[in-house]
Amino acid sequence: MNTQSNSNVINLESSAAKRFASTAKELPLLALSHEELRQLLSNQLQSTLDVQDILMMFFKISQRMISYDSLTYKHESQSVAVELGVLQKHRVAYNLNYQGEYLGNIVFSRGRSFTEQELGDFESIIASLIFPLRNGLLYAAALQSALKDPLTGAGNRISMQQTLQRDIDTAQRHKQPLSVLMIDIDYFKRINDCYGHSAGDLVLVEIAQAIQMQLRSTDALFRYGGEEFLAVLPNTCEADALVVAERLRASLAALLINFAGEEISITASLGCATLGSDDSLSSLLQRSDVALYAAKRKGRNQVQVAP
Ligand code: GH3
Ligand code: MG
Ligand code: MG
Repeated sequence: MNTQSNSNVINLESSAAKRFASTAKELPLLALSHEELRQLLSNQLQSTLDVQDILMMFFKISQRMISYDSLTYKHESQSVAVELGVLQKHRVAYNLNYQGEYLGNIVFSRGRSFTEQELGDFESIIASLIFPLRNGLLYAAALQSALKDPLTGAGNRISMQQTLQRDIDTAQRHKQPLSVLMIDIDYFKRINDCYGHSAGDLVLVEIAQAIQMQLRSTDALFRYGGEEFLAVLPNTCEADALVVAERLRASLAALLINFAGEEISITASLGCATLGSDDSLSSLLQRSDVALYAAKRKGRNQVQVAP
């Protein structure tokens, strides 16, 4: 079995997968009629909200109904990509929709071409996938949005705690460096005072975008407080983090934000801290905060490193 996704790796250990495995062992699937398989399919798919588990169950059971080798599913905007089995030459693809709502694209493949009868069978069993898949996608979107700051789209404090703790554990286990940058906008209150709160909001959105553009895909950005962001840079030593920090500082200082015909410019101060052997999550954050306040004290629009 093969999976293809960064954020959505199939978890064969998940409880739904285990449940399915035990059901599959108990039931001699081959002995079931098409109608019984269809019923089993529909029951199983409703037993979980995990999109990957849903697709895996669908793959296993539908292969008993139609002979095929691989199932590939993609939903770009929800960053879901699942590949089950080994891709073969002959493929049949379906765009999944429910009342005009796009639910992704599914491709089945095998070494020989599919017959008209089999294409009809695919269409009919795909119908049992639509509702469970839609529920799973809605659930995944709800989970995602629970971890995001609604204004800027950066991660929120809850996801920061989870991600940073996981990254610290990984760094300590593999003896890899890890750095964080605490970024605070200089004199942000003046922007609200001069241009109004919605200008301030727009500035926050554009700042978050500008920072994201400077980060690698393995880095993560969180809104730490009102006008304070935290960038987590896994596998990054202090020297490299300082290069990133300086690049961020310069790009924010060069940013011109258009609001109601006005051009707003900002600067930011940054505190950089690299994980030490004695550091915990809170001491690392505290060190980056101390560095940030040193940057403020020394005149703002600059980067300081935690001792
Ligand atoms: P410093 O250079 O010392 O960081 O000064 P500052 O003005 O940036 O810092 P201060 O902490 O005094 O003010 C932060 C301001 O950020 C005050 C608050 O109203 C504003 N703020 C916090 N969250 C939001 C938000 O979501 N939208 C807007 N528009 N303003 C916000
Ligand atoms: Mg500030
Ligand atoms: Mg602040």
